[in-house]
Amino acid sequence: MTFDPPLQPGDTISNRQLTELFKCSSQGGMRRAHATESLVLIADHTLSLYENRWIDGRFHFSGIGTRGDQQLGFSQNKTLAESPDNPVSVFLFEVFESGRYIFTGRVVLAEAPYTASHPDIEGRCRSVWVFPLRLIGEERSPRIAEELIQKNRSRNERLARKLSDKELVKRAANIKSRAGCRRATINVYEKNVYVAELARRKANGSCQLCEQPAPFRDRHGRAFLETHHITRISEGGEDTIDNTVALCPNCHAKMHALNLKSDCRRLKKKAARNVYQHTLFGEVIFC
Ligand SMILES: [Zn+2]
Ligand SMILES: [Zn+2]
Repeated sequence: MTFDPPLQPGDTISNRQLTELFKCSSQGGMRRAHATESLVLIADHTLSLYENRWIDGRFHFSGIGTRGDQQLGFSQNKTLAESPDNPVSVFLFEVFESGRYIFTGRVVLAEAPYTASHPDIEGRCRSVWVFPLRLIGEERSPRIAEELIQKNRSRNERLARKLSDKELVKRAANIKSRAGCRRATINVYEKNVYVAELARRKANGSCQLCEQPAPFRDRHGRAFLETHHITRISEGGEDTIDNTVALCPNCHAKMHALNLKSDCRRLKKKAARNVYQHTLFGEVIFC
């Protein structure tokens, strides 16, 4: 009988819980458990050694073996390759933060495994077996919080910055696969259009940080400026006119990359002046 773990796709468990549930080893990317007749696959995205990714609804999972060419007849690569004909049930987990295992679901081999060229643990180019997997029951992968994906990407970017030019060229040159695409959840803040429009009008065509005219006009002939919250909404900032400024794309990117205190102070002063008055005749003037 197929092992049926009490997990829903998207559930997060610890390595200990995973080990107890499946009765498998606590280590490795492919864990065979005889007691539950299962093979647990761990796609650990915090290890940049493998390029495990979703492409067209299939999860392309790299086999095991960290040095030299991988062998299809080796260990659990063999179990997975033979899984259409053996009684083993295959389960997939993905890891974006160390120690947190997100259950993706039960999977089957969707197509024949293929080889790809990828650097090994010493950066040497070698052949890796990739297994295209399909979820059972679910058409699509569970949604992962975008912050989690972003956090992991930033971590991998930091590691990439430490590589020598030679190492980087070697790794980049060997990537031939398509970009992965997966489902994610994002928090979308519903910003007030009147506040944004008023901030843009008050800026009067020039960036409120560098004070230069907007770099181009949009298709309606208006100066292209982007609105920005000085104290970010995600950090408790309010969507109000005294927290909103209009910036050129360059300064906007700078605020998100650096968020310098001196720039924030300057923008706060500008935003505090984003006030307006009604004249005796009912007109509005900016002051
Ligand atoms: Zn600017
Ligand atoms: Zn912004």
